[in-house]
Amino acid sequence: MNLPVWVRMVEVGPRDGLQNEPERVPTEAKVAFVEALADAGLQWIEVGSFVRPDRVPQMADTDEVFRRLRPRRGVTYVALVPNVRGLERAAACGVRAVAVFTAATDAFARANLGMSVDDSLRTLRDVVREAQAGGMLVRGYVSVAWWCPYTGPVDPQAVRRVALELLEMGCAELGVADTVGAATPRQVQELLELFLREVCPHRLGVHFHDTRGTGLANVLASLQVGITTVDASAGGLGGCPFAPGALGNVATEDVLYMLHGMGVRTGVDLERVCAASRTLESVLGRKLPSRYLQAGAPRAAAAG
Ligand code: MG
Repeated sequence: MNLPVWVRMVEVGPRDGLQNEPERVPTEAKVAFVEALADAGLQWIEVGSFVRPDRVPQMADTDEVFRRLRPRRGVTYVALVPNVRGLERAAACGVRAVAVFTAATDAFARANLGMSVDDSLRTLRDVVREAQAGGMLVRGYVSVAWWCPYTGPVDPQAVRRVALELLEMGCAELGVADTVGAATPRQVQELLELFLREVCPHRLGVHFHDTRGTGLANVLASLQVGITTVDASAGGLGGCPFAPGALGNVATEDVLYMLHGMGVRTGVDLERVCAASRTLESVLGRKLPSRYLQAGAPRAAAAG
């Protein structure tokens, strides 16, 4: 198998996961969750988003979460920001890295952002310029890169155009997202191979949802074409409030189990991620969907 020796994990659970919870999670539980994930060795953690509290009330306390987090060497706490207003809120609480997002289709952009793809790219150009002026790192997301819940299969050239524009405006890297969890491995490889003709693999990450059970297969397919950055969500938390039918992100635990079992290193302690997810399960009062979290490490039956 053609596999990288090292994969950089991007943890999106506290943001992409918790924003989809029906109930508000207490601020101190969010802080504890993020700290526990950092303790597990995750070095790039999406902590929350600076979006309108009336639209996403679960993220209304993102300022406070950032203020309470202890800075750590080697760990980057990231905020998702939709616009300059969100960026200013992020800067005010000392955020050093932000994620911005747009979509590959106008239908999804209009439903999610209230504007066309081109208008959102214009908005993001201002956000990225200001973020860079403030010395922040910027990651750009392209949502619905393979399948749009409104218009179906997405033209790879449309995704490519948006992706290249995000990189050109100054995003250090891209997260290519299967927002509704519809892609299958060959489609994944075909789109990534198209990107890799023009973009260094270190600037590309993949963001999969396990809605239809193809999440891990899509991660593996991505690694085989040279991708080394993988988004995942502790416990398999998450979904997309604007994408009908979207379930959880691919679970950090399940990705780590697969990677470590293949000899791919991540620097992340799987059991400590499980401990973080279990604590969160008790806060949420329900089980999280990660398969590894539920099954635990494989054991041999006692001899005899
Ligand atoms: Mg997601």
